[in-house]
Amino acid sequence: MRSGLSRPTVGLVLSTLASAGLVTVGKARQGSGGGRPSPVVEPTDQHLVATVYVDVTGVEVALCGLGGRILAVAATNSSVRDPEWVVGEAARLLDRLLVPFNGISRVLRVVAVVPGRVKSDEGLVVNAPHLQWQRVALATALAEATGLPSELAHDGHAGALAEWRWGTGRETNDLIYLYAGPGGVGAGIISAGSLLRGSHELAGRLAHVAVSDDGPLCYCGAHGCLTTHLSAAALDAAIGGNGVERSAASLAERMADLGADHPVMQRLAAQLTRGLRTVVAVFDPDVIVLAGALTGFLNVAGTRVAGALAHTNLDVARDAVRVVEPTLGSQQLHIGASDIGFASLLEDPSPTIATADGS
Ligand SMILES: [Zn+2]
Repeated sequence: MRSGLSRPTVGLVLSTLASAGLVTVGKARQGSGGGRPSPVVEPTDQHLVATVYVDVTGVEVALCGLGGRILAVAATNSSVRDPEWVVGEAARLLDRLLVPFNGISRVLRVVAVVPGRVKSDEGLVVNAPHLQWQRVALATALAEATGLPSELAHDGHAGALAEWRWGTGRETNDLIYLYAGPGGVGAGIISAGSLLRGSHELAGRLAHVAVSDDGPLCYCGAHGCLTTHLSAAALDAAIGGNGVERSAASLAERMADLGADHPVMQRLAAQLTRGLRTVVAVFDPDVIVLAGALTGFLNVAGTRVAGALAHTNLDVARDAVRVVEPTLGSQQLHIGASDIGFASLLEDPSPTIATADGS
């Protein structure tokens, strides 16, 4: 992977990571393309990040190693949404996951992924409508329950980071990630090699792009937002369910049963495309990743979506934008969250790691 950093800078970074126990640096090996030999760098499992994914279906906790690696996952399915219960359950699952790692690995940080608006510098969930949470100090509660520094991430941001760094977007610096899950639609935008956050951490909230003029009233106060038509629950209701089906695989299967020419699928694909056209016009991405329940469109109406994107006056959209499914599977949000956690550690690894080691 190219870092864009000079050799001395890379050497300095590697020695910092190695002294923090996050990587081992092996003997230099000659690369296939000639040139100077490069050291072999391997992540260690000495220090880990724990990630917590909260959604309306329950709580999931993962132990993650540097480099987008998931080492273990445990989940509790429940419709209970009380923050206190969620935090207690996350701490219990983490304790259980750590048993086989006792004496081998140490968790240094917790990152919770939430389907809603967060203020990451305050560790605050400002609003997670599907969880019915308003101003929940989740990071503080998690830190108290686990004894570990904790932080928060918006689900769309975690997904975008994961697919960009470790998934289908590794070769690009401009990626749009759109995810339809139990907690609505989450999105993230990687532009010129950076995650867009905006002034209020609201950048990339594509859930609230208007895709119909007289659509349902959204919790944000507007009508016809993308999330009112294309959340997992909205998709389920649109294709004949009772609006409670959450499984992306099951929704994709039922969308396939209807087929691309069914009027409902045509309407839904048109609404998705209307949102995507706006996004392409504003951000000019290389790749659009449709994740969660939205992968159903790629199997059924992928050609229709890609074809409709071509009906713009932007030549590049016609020729170059790839609309694809994620390659990281169901753990993509944990992978992105672990990247956020390791980035926080790497900003200043020594104090945190020294404290964790009791030295
Ligand atoms: Zn809205």
